[in-house]
This record gives sequence, structure tokens and C-alpha cells, in this order.
Amino acid sequence: MERKVRVRFAPSPTGPLHIGGVRTALYNYIFARKHGGDMILRIEDTDSRRFVPGAEDYINESLQWLGIGIDEGVREGGPFGPYKQSERRDIYRQHVKQLLDAGRAYIAFDTPEELEAARAEIPNFQYDASTRTRMRNSLTLPADEVQKLIDNGTQYVVRFLIEPDKEVKVNDLIRGEVTVNSSILDDKVLYKSADDLPTYHLANIVDDHLMEVSHVIRGEEWLPSAPLHVLLYEAFGWQDTMPQFVHLPLLLKPVGNGKLSKRDGDKLGFPVFPLEWHDPKSGEISSGFRERGYLPEALVNFLALLGWNPGDDSELMTMQELIDKFSFEHCSKAGAKFDFKKGEWFNHEYLMRKPDEELAALFMPILEEHGVSGFTPEYVARAIGMVKGRANLIPDLWEQGSFFFIAPEGYAEKDVKKRWSAETPAIMEELIGVLEGIDDMTSANAEKIVLDWIAFKEYHLGNVMNAFRLAVVGACRGPHMFDITELMPKEEVTRRIRKAIDTLHYPPAIYEDTEIWRNQRAMRRGEPPVA
Ligand code: GLU
Repeated sequence: MERKVRVRFAPSPTGPLHIGGVRTALYNYIFARKHGGDMILRIEDTDSRRFVPGAEDYINESLQWLGIGIDEGVREGGPFGPYKQSERRDIYRQHVKQLLDAGRAYIAFDTPEELEAARAEIPNFQYDASTRTRMRNSLTLPADEVQKLIDNGTQYVVRFLIEPDKEVKVNDLIRGEVTVNSSILDDKVLYKSADDLPTYHLANIVDDHLMEVSHVIRGEEWLPSAPLHVLLYEAFGWQDTMPQFVHLPLLLKPVGNGKLSKRDGDKLGFPVFPLEWHDPKSGEISSGFRERGYLPEALVNFLALLGWNPGDDSELMTMQELIDKFSFEHCSKAGAKFDFKKGEWFNHEYLMRKPDEELAALFMPILEEHGVSGFTPEYVARAIGMVKGRANLIPDLWEQGSFFFIAPEGYAEKDVKKRWSAETPAIMEELIGVLEGIDDMTSANAEKIVLDWIAFKEYHLGNVMNAFRLAVVGACRGPHMFDITELMPKEEVTRRIRKAIDTLHYPPAIYEDTEIWRNQRAMRRGEPPVA
């Protein structure tokens, strides 16, 4: 009978979840959904020295933000709990005993100093069949002495007894069959009496078995542990229900060789964590994709394609489409370069497809950050709808469209030089009058009236329109001018033109704030001349 698909994402709460871990979680989730299976979130907190407060919440929040749903876990509960390893000590103790009783494991008393000495004495020391007979363990000491040491409270570890020179086969859905000789493995520590906790290997195997995990989908960095895990399944007699292994390709640096690291992100300017992380010890803040202005659905799509392809050339896929198309057959063995520019491209595509009203809601906090308030959601939606074509990340919307909310604080120098000349102020004064005379500011209507006026006066169309734009936007860029003035209150438009006239004297160096200039301005405005 086919086994029910049950997968687990099993992070250790030792810091922020790395983006590679997020991809692992995503593939587990997609695979579970594809096969109507269960997705388990198991917290592997057996290494008490590396525990970091806040890391578990961070994991939950990240998965939730990305829409990676969990069926069983610490928060969700489920029939196979507890889902946090530090709460399963009894279970591990029993299983350690089982291996000891069966002679598949032994107790070792070697102190750190003794291990150090062995390492110094024996080249390439490894605790295994070739060395264990000269160490202090339950294989070399008489039984009553072992018992006495334990009763005295001497610290010990339990080691897995690995038989040398055995072929160990790991079956991997992406890599095929990988064979390893057991002699290269050491007698791994499975349990430490010091904190009464199992190590990763034992806890991981016991839980995968008890939680009826069908597929172990994890990063390639865990491949070296797989032969040991296979041997553990066999030692427990669980070989018939051993999960299928799937080791996902590494995420690589965008440029050069090697694993993607936080340093690459810092250097090239992209995050490697899903959410911003505040390190509780150092206080250091690491940037996150969410705070950088990525949409979760774009990040999901981007990550899904790092190491997998749908077998055709589709790129933009919803979570459901990813689920429909997913299979390990199209996963690559080779590492996947973390092309963050492609990530930005995905985000742009998702911004373009997202309804403006929804984008506006995501943009509101950015407006607040800039101290902007008092605009209706409808105004915000229409404004960003006009500029999103030039945005990759949500904050780019501010860069492109801040003029909808605040008057320009300066004018692009190059554009001023090119478009603002001696006669511009008078023409702009005239334009104010023209605009004031328009009742219906809809784009096409205002455009017709203004262009007719320009034509009638035989003004230079490009110069007038660009000076107009300079006054309202602050630079010669942005969406169609009359779309802007359809949305913006007319008084704001005319106020900005007036401000530009006052600010951009001509020619600045010579006449700035001279009597001549002030008189000219008064004349233009029909005010009495200054004395
Ligand atoms: N706790 C391990 C981790 O931090 C789990 C590895 C595995 O999936 O077996 O990734």
C-alpha cells in the first residue's frame, strides 16, 4: 500500500531562518499539498547551547507571511505531539536504552581532555572500530565499573556502534542511490548525560519514525548525515518504513563560487532572511525580504524556481500552480545561483498584477514613515497605480510617486537648465490662469485645453510641458502630466507652479533677488512695482 505523504520541516531555533531554510519549508509544503499529505513543523531544540530566544516565533511568523501552511506543530497541535524536541526527553531516553540493550550503542566516559590526547596521539583520529577499544567506554571497562561510574554521577555520552566496512546505501529522489562505506563514519554521539538530551541524529530519526514521516526533504548540507541515519533506522529495525530522502541543491552566491552567505547579501544589497531580524544578544539588525518591500507571493515564486523548473518555460506561478506542476524529477542536483535581480523582477511582475487598492494598503506604512497623512485610500491607489510600472519593490513606489503626496523640495538641476528659461515664468503665470479656467480636470479635457492654448500662443510645446512638469513633479519624469493633474487637487497644482516661479528665478546668478527681478515678478502678477 502507498504510504500517506507526511513531511516535516525541522528547523533548529538557533537564529533567524535563512532563506535556504525557507525554500526547504516551501518544497516540503508544496510536496505535501500536491499529494494530499500532511506538513509537520517540528522544532529541533536539542542543542541547548545554541538556543536563541525569539527564533521559534520568527520561524512561525515567516512561514505564515509566506503562506506556507502547517498541519501539525507546536501551535497547531496534532496526534503525534509534542512537536518540540525538548519536550520529548522520555521518548529519546527509551530509545537510547533500546539501542544499548541491543548492543547497537555503548556508553563512553572519555573526558574532553582524554579525547584531545587521543587526537594528538593518533593521526586522523576518529572514534570508531579502530580506536574504540583503547578508549574508556562500556566496551572496554568491566560492567560493574561502568555501573559505579554512572551511579557516581560521572558524565557520559552514548555512542552509536558502527560496524566497519559495510556498504550503506542512501536512496535519494534527486541524487539517486549514493553508496558509502561505513568505515568513514565515526561512532556518533546519540545522547549526552550532561543535559539529558539526545543529539540531532537520534532525535531526528526517532521522531521521523514516530511521526510517520514518509519523505525527508532537506538541504544538501544534511546529505553527509544520511548514511548514519540509514544505519540508525536499521539498528532500530525500522528499515521497512524508512522515509524517502530528498536532498535539495544548495543555494549559491549570485556571483563567484560557494554557498550563499549573509555577507553576499550585505555586499550586494539584498536580504538573506525572510523577515527583519533583531539579534537579541548583539542588537544587530539584519534586513528581511518583507521589510525590503517584497510581496510574499513573489518571493515564493522566486524561491520555488531556485533548484526546480516546471519542465516548460512558465515563470510566473501562483502557489496552486506550483503545487500542480511540482515534481522532484525536475529538481537539479547542481546548486542554484541566488540571482537576486531575478527576485526583483518577480516582485515587479507581482506588483503589476496586484490590484492598486491592495498595494495602497501595503504602501500606507511607507507614507506614514514619511510623515504623510490625510490622503484617501482611493487617492493613494490611483497615485501608485500610475507609477508602479517603474517600481520593483514597494518602497520604490515612494521614490517614483512621492510628488503625489508632497510638493517637490527641489528641482532637478539638469532639467532646469534645459527647460526653464527667461520667458518661462511669464508662461507659467499664464498657465496658472489657463488651469484655473478649466472646470473639468479630467485628463483628456485638460490636455486639450492646455495644448490648444500652447498652440494658439505658438509656444514651444516641449518646453512648456516640461517646465509644467518640473514645477509639479520636481523633475522631467513621471506619468502622463494630465493624469497627474486629474488626480491632484487643482489648487495644489497651481500652488506648485507658483512656487517654482518664485524659486527658479532667471537667470539665477545675475538677477537673484534683485530689484529688477522683484519688479518683473510684480509685473507678471499685476502687483504694484516695488520701490
Ligand atoms: N534540525 C535540522 C536543521 O536545523 C534538521 C535537518 C533535517 O531536516 O533533518 O535543519
